Amino acid sequence: MSENAAQLLAQVQERIAKACAIARREPADVTLVAVSKMHQADAIVPLLEAGQRVFGENRVQEAAAKWPELKARYPDVELHLVGQLQSNKADEAVALFDAIHSVDRPSLVTALGKAMDKAVANGGRRVPCFVQVNVGAEEQKGGCALADLPALLDQAREAGLPVIGLMCVPPADIEPAPFFALLDKLARDHGLEGRSMGMSGDFETAIMLGATHVRVGTALFGSR
Ligand SMILES: *Cc1c(COP(=O)(O)O)cnc(C)c1O
Repeated sequence: MSENAAQLLAQVQERIAKACAIARREPADVTLVAVSKMHQADAIVPLLEAGQRVFGENRVQEAAAKWPELKARYPDVELHLVGQLQSNKADEAVALFDAIHSVDRPSLVTALGKAMDKAVANGGRRVPCFVQVNVGAEEQKGGCALADLPALLDQAREAGLPVIGLMCVPPADIEPAPFFALLDKLARDHGLEGRSMGMSGDFETAIMLGATHVRVGTALFGSR
């Protein structure tokens, strides 16, 4: 099993390297976030043993149950929240995660700003954030509307959130490249370095279009 994990990791890294070569980018400029949601420690440890250090979870509760123990064993792990966050879990999220990819509405910015102020007052730190954009204007999807992005970014800066980039999950079952290109343009327009985009099925395309963080689950863990 652990041999399998090492092989899957090597395959994904190879695919990242190839996409970077085509795009004339450095693989070091693309962070692989291994999305371990719905996988237990016994599936995660082999990837840790194979050297993977950046992981993503989509629920605070699930991450809080799994990761404190794993972080104690592998202290250099970086844990990213990639799923939607409820404002009432902001304190917990700030304590647990090293990056938050899903900042998408004013009430959450307010809650995270307060949570980070509190954390700093208690000797903790502010957590780097991505603002999630609903690039496909899908009704049920997380992410702020395109029109709301400038105001949300202003509010986030005022609230003391370190915003390092933008994030998107394009609509399913349609060519994602135009949405990645849109996120790249928005990030450039707002002077932001980070572009969290691309999952198992499309991370090469995302890298060609400027992804700095690819969020890969199935290609590393198998299907859930
Ligand atoms: C689950 C998830 C991923 C990983 O998706 P795969 O297709 O399994 O690679 C990436 N981003 C988010 C927000 C997710 O919830």
